[in-house]
Amino acid sequence: MKHFKFLTLLCLLLALVCCLAACSQGANGDGGENGGSGDGDPTGCTHEYTDVVTAPTCTAAGYTTHTCSKCGDVKKDTEVAANGHTYIDTVTAPTCDTDGYTTHTCKNCTNSYKDTIVQMLGHAWDVANATNSSCGCTTCQTNYSWTAPSGFEYDFERYFINNEFVGYKIAGIEGTVPNTLKLPAVYDGMPVMAVGDLALNDIERLMSLEIPDTYIELGDGAFSWCANLSSITLPNTLKYIGSNPFLGTKYYKNACYEVNGRFEYVVRPLIMNGRYLMKGYLKQDQTEYTVPEGIVVIADKAFEDYSQLVTVTLPKTLRYLGTDVFLSCSGLKTINIHKGVVEFGERPYYVVNNRGVLQNVNFEGTQAEWQTIKNSSAFAARYVKYNKQIG
Ligand SMILES: [Zn+2]
Ligand SMILES: [Zn+2]
Ligand SMILES: [Zn+2]
Repeated sequence: MKHFKFLTLLCLLLALVCCLAACSQGANGDGGENGGSGDGDPTGCTHEYTDVVTAPTCTAAGYTTHTCSKCGDVKKDTEVAANGHTYIDTVTAPTCDTDGYTTHTCKNCTNSYKDTIVQMLGHAWDVANATNSSCGCTTCQTNYSWTAPSGFEYDFERYFINNEFVGYKIAGIEGTVPNTLKLPAVYDGMPVMAVGDLALNDIERLMSLEIPDTYIELGDGAFSWCANLSSITLPNTLKYIGSNPFLGTKYYKNACYEVNGRFEYVVRPLIMNGRYLMKGYLKQDQTEYTVPEGIVVIADKAFEDYSQLVTVTLPKTLRYLGTDVFLSCSGLKTINIHKGVVEFGERPYYVVNNRGVLQNVNFEGTQAEWQTIKNSSAFAARYVKYNKQIG
């Protein structure tokens, strides 16, 4: 009985398959049948598809969805590639104290990104019209004034750029320094532009420090061993940073990792304002380090004694590579550098091992641009060769 029933079913099924095959042939022969109905579906539904076209977006492909109004069958086809973003570029010009950049915004979606950083202009000091107690900028109209502090005194020295007297630097401080200090922006009708080497070191009372945006330089150990300094407002205008300006402060100590009561040996330079990279606390055993994008200045001796470093990659945003940045990096073999760097301190690549361990500087620019850098007094690693390898 059971077998008989099964055979009957099989026959019926065969008949159905034959019939459908014939149908399908007929449909193909007609050529012009619409909506794909009757295309031999084993469910037996003579599908009646409704088509919905989904357009491509910037990032996703488009396609056509066919849905059968009888059985609900869904199929997708006719894929169309994603459009990609269509960017509109907006250039934001640099100001005295902010960098310029280009914003690329997609006109079809919310995607956007920034690039082509242009260095800030710096203030244009109107020294001719300054008074003893004030000086203004002709570009941004900001006016800075001098108020003599009470209870303490600054020791000022003339500040020169390319032998030109352009302002003052703070060389020292005497008297009872308050807990909170905002450095002066103007002195004797000129901007105050720098804090000299060790100028404000070892001031135990100092807890909070603010530096105005007239400053372009911090000297070696400028605020070193101000052990209670725990709040620092730095301007974005700094162009040159000496070695270890914050040595012995909480900032410097925070630049090392402490795990379970002991230090992790990891390269961790001190980064401030997301722009300035200074020397961190410890030696380490990390062989590669990529300086984060956004860093504009690498301070003098920033990697000094990181002897296990083999490869360092500098960011596209870098503008100034300080003096002796890689001093005593005796294991350093390769530096990847982009051509955006416009200024160098003295001997930025100097490696204490004068047999020249450094082997490769992979430079993004042309051979001629590389020669300019190599021929400058900045360059001391004689055995380094040009490799155009990075983009
Ligand atoms: Zn159907
Ligand atoms: Zn888009
Ligand atoms: Zn200005």
